Amino acid sequence: MNAPLIELEQINKTFMMGKEPILALRNISLTIQENEFISVIGPSGSGKSTLMNVLGLLDQPDSGVYRLDGVPVQSVPDDERAKLRNQKIGFVFQVFNLLPRADALRNVEMPLVYSASYDRSFSKTKIRELAEGALRRVSLLDRMSHKPNELSGGQRQRVAIARAIVNRPRILLADEPTGNLDSKTGSEILALFEELHHEGVTVIMVTHDPKIAARARRTISMADGLIAKDEYAHS
Ligand code: ADP
Ligand code: MG
Repeated sequence: MNAPLIELEQINKTFMMGKEPILALRNISLTIQENEFISVIGPSGSGKSTLMNVLGLLDQPDSGVYRLDGVPVQSVPDDERAKLRNQKIGFVFQVFNLLPRADALRNVEMPLVYSASYDRSFSKTKIRELAEGALRRVSLLDRMSHKPNELSGGQRQRVAIARAIVNRPRILLADEPTGNLDSKTGSEILALFEELHHEGVTVIMVTHDPKIAARARRTISMADGLIAKDEYAHS
């Protein structure tokens, strides 16, 4: 049998606030199969972002095992881990995190420029072609020469999604992706996630909005660094 896409075993992450330890993740164990669509909910400070950062290889847990495609990621050297992240994971943030001086095309090309450092098949032409394809995917090809400050919030988030999917990752992680958007724009972003899910991508998103959370097949509720509930929607 294939290994699950994601396996967390007793993951702990503590932050120090002065002398006070904050247990952001407490013995989290979690299995996620390929092509799940999961929402993560819970009060502010419950550990949602910490969990996403661990899943996205942006942060390392203090203890526990994280297996991605069966590979225990902590035992992989840093540069190899960066490569794993680049190839397998797309990350979308609430605050978009685009490069302010770069236009939309350049922002979307960025992960491919990193890919090119270890895969020579990414020529300049190829990079441009793939980035344009990703921008077309989010219906923003006509804005490719615009800088972030020349785009609306919804358009910025679509550029960020194009950047997240340009490498065709199997996993899309989104931390409150609609948190800074009005509800109509938020629905458009969610529709894009649903399309990607239908195409086979595993989508995990944090949201405060119960209506958005309800669109996922599985809802994980965090409370105080723990998984308080893990429920599948009836279908
Ligand atoms: P959520 O995303 O659910 O709001 P977080 O994962 O951001 O929660 O935070 C969980 C807990 O860890 C909170 O108490 C938060 O203050 C703390 N925390 C998160 N990141 C840091 C950090 N870099 N330094 C200190 N404390 C942190
Ligand atoms: Mg958060």
